[in-house]
Amino acid sequence: MTLLSRRKLLENALRGAAGAWLGSMTLGRSAHAQLRAARLQPAGGAPLDLGGGMHVLRAGATNVLAVIDADGVALVDGGASTESTALLESVAELSGGKTVHTLFNTHWHPDHTGSNEPLGAAGATIVSHVNTKLWLTTDVTWPWNGETVLPLPKSALPTRTFYTEDELEVGGRTVRCGHLRDCPHTDGDIYVYFPDENVMAVGDAVRGDGWPEIDWWTGGWLGGIVGGLGTLFSGLDPVLF
Ligand SMILES: [Zn+2]
Repeated sequence: MTLLSRRKLLENALRGAAGAWLGSMTLGRSAHAQLRAARLQPAGGAPLDLGGGMHVLRAGATNVLAVIDADGVALVDGGASTESTALLESVAELSGGKTVHTLFNTHWHPDHTGSNEPLGAAGATIVSHVNTKLWLTTDVTWPWNGETVLPLPKSALPTRTFYTEDELEVGGRTVRCGHLRDCPHTDGDIYVYFPDENVMAVGDAVRGDGWPEIDWWTGGWLGGIVGGLGTLFSGLDPVLF
C-alpha cells in the first residue's frame, strides 16, 4: 500500500475510500455495529503491512495499529476484551514475541479498551486523554440501549494522560497525540500521529464510510464532527508542527 499524504487521506476518508486512517465504529455490541467498521482491513484478514514496522490488525470490528520497534510493540487501541487474546497472539506472532510496551486509547469505549487489562497488568504504559481515564473509572449506562459498561480495575487504567496534547518517544519514534477538543465521538477523543511515517489513528472520531456516531452521553456532539475535522485539517498540518 502506498502511504498517501495525510490531507489526501482525509479527502479519501470523506469520500468513503480507505486509507492509512484507522477507525471503526461500535457503540455497544449491536449487530449493525459490524456494518460500521472501517473498510481498511477486513475482519479475519491478514495484518495489513503499512511499512516501517507498522501494521493494521482487526480485533472484531476495531482497527488496531501495531507499531513494532527494537524495544517492543506499541498499539493504538486494543479491541474488545473478547477479542484481546486473539489480538495479542497475532501481535506476538507478527513481532516475533516482542512485549507490548505502550498502548494508546483513542477513547474510552469498550471495543477499543479491551486489552487494557492484560497489557496494564503486564506493565505497559497506557496513554489517553484525561477524560477517557475518568470514564474508565465509573459505570456508564447508555440511555439508548440500557447497556452498562463497568469500570476497569486500577491496573487497567491509563497511566499517562494529557489534556490538550502530548509528545512521546516510543521505541525511537516520535508520537504526537492531541485532544479533538470539539468532541466528535466522546469528550476524550484523541488522534495519535506518527509524523515520520505520516500515519495517524483517530479511533471512532472519523469514519471512512459515513459520519461518526455521536456518543452524546459521554460528551460527543454534532458540532464536534465539524470541529474535529477542522482540527485535523488545519492544526495538524505538518508545516505547522
Ligand atoms: Zn467508539
